[in-house]
Amino acid sequence: MLQNEIYVGSMVQGRQYTPSYRSKKREPIPKEDWVVVPDMHEPIISRELFDEAQKRLIARKKTIKAKDKDEPALFAGLFYCEACGTSMKLGVSQQKYFYYMCGRSQAIGTVACSSHYINRDTLYQVVQEDIKRNAKLFSEDAEKAAQKLMELKCADQQKQTTTMKRDLASAKKRLADLDVKLKRTYEDNMSGKLPDHIFTMFIADYDTERATLKANIAEMEKTLEKVRDTKADIERFADLIRKYTSFEKLDRFMLHELIDRITIYETPGMGRCRKGKEKRITIYYKFVGAIQ
Ligand SMILES: [Zn+2]
Repeated sequence: MLQNEIYVGSMVQGRQYTPSYRSKKREPIPKEDWVVVPDMHEPIISRELFDEAQKRLIARKKTIKAKDKDEPALFAGLFYCEACGTSMKLGVSQQKYFYYMCGRSQAIGTVACSSHYINRDTLYQVVQEDIKRNAKLFSEDAEKAAQKLMELKCADQQKQTTTMKRDLASAKKRLADLDVKLKRTYEDNMSGKLPDHIFTMFIADYDTERATLKANIAEMEKTLEKVRDTKADIERFADLIRKYTSFEKLDRFMLHELIDRITIYETPGMGRCRKGKEKRITIYYKFVGAIQ
């Protein structure tokens, strides 16, 4: 059921064909050749849920495959090369330890992308420590941790929030006043109290001020909304991460619950000398993205 596109409202056609007139047997057509027309009918499950289930399914398949090598692919579907976007491929060294390298580099060579080579245990440790560190921060002083994250995500906007709310209120009031004034001026002109040339001048001024005010209001509302959204996202993340204040081992469920993706990047141009190459692992958490 999880793999059936029909549950998210897509129409799937051409999944089978009859290979020859003599044969009544219908042959399956490769999935990539199916005709999928998205959003044809009301979805039974949401597209998000469907995609998430697909992701987990792929991860599960990969885990089973990797178990042959006596090592579950814990980071399957989560770990990507920052430089080219390809997923990092798990490999086993001659010394029998597991490592990851960029799939593109592995397939085409280092001309295509740097290897971004990393020992699996190193990655494990970095991720484990980062989860523990954040869980600790959010369980010890959630308000402070959220505030810090808020500053990271929208520092400038947040600083403006107080003054912006005030400015927004006065801009809205000014806009309402303008409309009243416009109506009065119009009436004065109609009754002959206001000559036409002065009326035209007023109208031009009003139009300009009105347009500016409207643009400013829209801009401020957008900023305030972003601050509100970010706050809500941080709260969601806080609820998630607090569940993991103490855990023994990383498992795939928690990784998928907490993390969108993990990427690796290394400073290029160091030639054959590996020394001095700085590897940077970025963890993009659910709802809040990169935290550092
Ligand atoms: Zn790459």
